[in-house]
Amino acid sequence: MDDGKKILVIIMDGLGDRAVRSLGYRTPLQCANKPNLDWFAVNGTSGIMDVISPGVRPGSDTSHLALLGYDPYQVYTGRGPFEAAGVGLVGKAGDVAFRCNFATVDDGMNVIDRRAGRIKEPDTTELAKALDGMRLGDITAVVKEATEHRAALMLQGSGLSPYVSDADPHALATVSRSEPLRPNAAATAEAVNEFVHRSYEVLKDHPVNRRRIAEGKQPANILLPRGAGVFPDIQPFESKYGMSASGVAGVSLIRGICRVCGLEVIEDAGCTGGTDTDMNAKACAALRELERKDFVLMNVKATDINSHDGDPRSKIESIERLDAMAKAIREGIPSGTVVALAADHCTPVEKGDHSGDPVPLTIYVENGIKDGVASYDEVSCARGALGRIRGVDLMPILIDKADRSEKFGA
Ligand code: ZN
Ligand code: ZN
Repeated sequence: MDDGKKILVIIMDGLGDRAVRSLGYRTPLQCANKPNLDWFAVNGTSGIMDVISPGVRPGSDTSHLALLGYDPYQVYTGRGPFEAAGVGLVGKAGDVAFRCNFATVDDGMNVIDRRAGRIKEPDTTELAKALDGMRLGDITAVVKEATEHRAALMLQGSGLSPYVSDADPHALATVSRSEPLRPNAAATAEAVNEFVHRSYEVLKDHPVNRRRIAEGKQPANILLPRGAGVFPDIQPFESKYGMSASGVAGVSLIRGICRVCGLEVIEDAGCTGGTDTDMNAKACAALRELERKDFVLMNVKATDINSHDGDPRSKIESIERLDAMAKAIREGIPSGTVVALAADHCTPVEKGDHSGDPVPLTIYVENGIKDGVASYDEVSCARGALGRIRGVDLMPILIDKADRSEKFGA
């Protein structure tokens, strides 16, 4: 067997939709002008895909795990660890991660501002640095700033448990005590409480906060953890499949999924994760990665944002920009590459949130059969030769089309 072909998976976030009344009961994909996405359908093999399983509404995290071939029911341990990994804190199996807010408390430990006067970088960078590496007995606290007033906390040590309640009161109220939710979680809850208390001691007189007070701003004098989750025991992508891999994504959570699965995450100036993402820059980054890696996953977020905003016209425009990206991919891919066009879930614009509908899927490779599907959309793809598959089936199919699969039997 030769080395096998390369694989590029393009995940267009929240792309699939339902029949939209204001579009004459068509989907945004059916309305958009997208000759390049359609070129892949015409020259490829299509189907529809239940990313988790029929009728299950996926989050972007569980769906990307499934698309990478990991059963989310086995490896998904909550958002905390994947968000922490998104900002660069990648723990070992058993480490516990929390999502946090920098907040303002009075000296009676009452929260008076849950966002600390909408603090952001670089103030949060310095404050996170002041807390990073704090020792809590045998446990080490690792802290990193995230977007705006947010941060990630990771506790490292042995015998940690994610079954602890939040220290964040989720309201303007007294800071909560983290309580163990299982008998073996007492030490973790105690570490959380000590961390929160000491964060106040460290931050209240920090020069950044003294300056903020002098400027009439709220000090970020405490860090409030919530949403504990344990890092899963996950087989790294490279050892699971024997392929080197990169992830190109602007969204922190998706970067986190990629990092926890062992993909190298590409920081690209053009990859912002908003609707203003420079899609061509993202295509360039993906093509560049394909030169040195066996597998590249890219996520483009814009269509999901348009859908959450309930804006079908913007979604159509985003699809047309995705089409320009598809053109760059079509013209730039090394010959023989296996390309998958897919979505991580549907986000119907009229619903404004994810749905459990299957997503359209097209797999293109030079020697793949052309199944007669002429358009990349929800309806046309349903008539394709791939039929209806699940998200976890995608990797085995791609690996086989890349001539990398092992024979079962003699
Ligand atoms: Zn998504
Ligand atoms: Zn979404």
